[in-house]
Amino acid sequence: MAVLYEKVALIGLGLIASSMAHAMRAAGLAGHIAGHAKTMQTRQTALELGICDSVHDSAVGAVIDADLVVLCVPVGAMEVVAAEIAPHLKPGATVTDVGSVKQAVIAAVGPHLPQSVAFIPGHPIAGTEHSGPRSGFASLFRNRWWLLTPLPGTDPAAVSRLRALCAGMGANVDEMDAAHHDLVLAVTSHTPHLIAYTMVGVADDLGRVTDSEVIKYSAAGFRDFTRIAASDPTMWRDVFLTNKDATLEILGRFTEELFALQRAIRTGDGDHLHAYFTRTRAIRRGIIEAGQDTDAPDFGRTPPPNRLA
Ligand code: NAP
Repeated sequence: MAVLYEKVALIGLGLIASSMAHAMRAAGLAGHIAGHAKTMQTRQTALELGICDSVHDSAVGAVIDADLVVLCVPVGAMEVVAAEIAPHLKPGATVTDVGSVKQAVIAAVGPHLPQSVAFIPGHPIAGTEHSGPRSGFASLFRNRWWLLTPLPGTDPAAVSRLRALCAGMGANVDEMDAAHHDLVLAVTSHTPHLIAYTMVGVADDLGRVTDSEVIKYSAAGFRDFTRIAASDPTMWRDVFLTNKDATLEILGRFTEELFALQRAIRTGDGDHLHAYFTRTRAIRRGIIEAGQDTDAPDFGRTPPPNRLA
């Protein structure tokens, strides 16, 4: 594939940035990949792994002459990075981000950037519960959606170049309004994470079931919750603090539905439970038909050796 950006600067070198670096390399999309992360340890790891062509002690050092700057830091850190790099951006460059929340990032980053750059907020709907530069891999974005939320008046040529980069990394690209993005993600990602955190917290607090029983007898449902609840605490703290309204709205609806199911259980309303579970099963089927998950039992996972017996 042809080089789309001569120089790409990745600010933050965790799961998403390192996956982008691997994917851009694999597809030959970037001439030079420069990187910066906050701590010396992460920068050192990135150097050892060869994720970037150059690793810089400052964000400013990384963005000099960059044609594309990608902010890959937690949502709460976007503003400080944007303020720092803004005076040093190359005129004509594109700045994007990969933050899980869009309205808050636009409000935090947008005012700092000069008119001479195109700011195109983005969010790859791809991830794992792992973080840091060692956790990235080239196929993370393959067949996943990458949502862009361009602001009115953004240069269409800059948007189509960024779309080509995302597609070149294997993603399906879509555009939507930032407020709609935040609502959709509150339903599909943010509230489910909060529920998983809560369920694992409840199991941990429940004195009548010991910790060892929770671990030993963990059934598929609970194990899936624990995987989600192992996600990075900084990233998820920032998601809830910045996508507050949409998360609270969906959480309100969730609580109402939970009360309805609670009542159905108490009153023995099997029809209600059966109809509800039939509807949710159809949603799962839809996700599989859309190619967004596997229908293999237990997500196709191989049981760990101690569970083979
Ligand atoms: P991560 O693996 O925890 O990496 C975060 C990186 O940001 C680290 O390299 C960290 O550096 C760096 N960083 C933090 N504050 C910084 C600052 N002030 N200046 C420079 N670097 C800073 O996180 P991630 O999972 O890649 O997530 C990055 C972004 O992608 C977040 O906004 C998140 O919402 C979004 N996102 C995540 C997922 C997911 O599933 N993980 C999916 C889609 C989008 P140090 O290591 O040196 O502290």
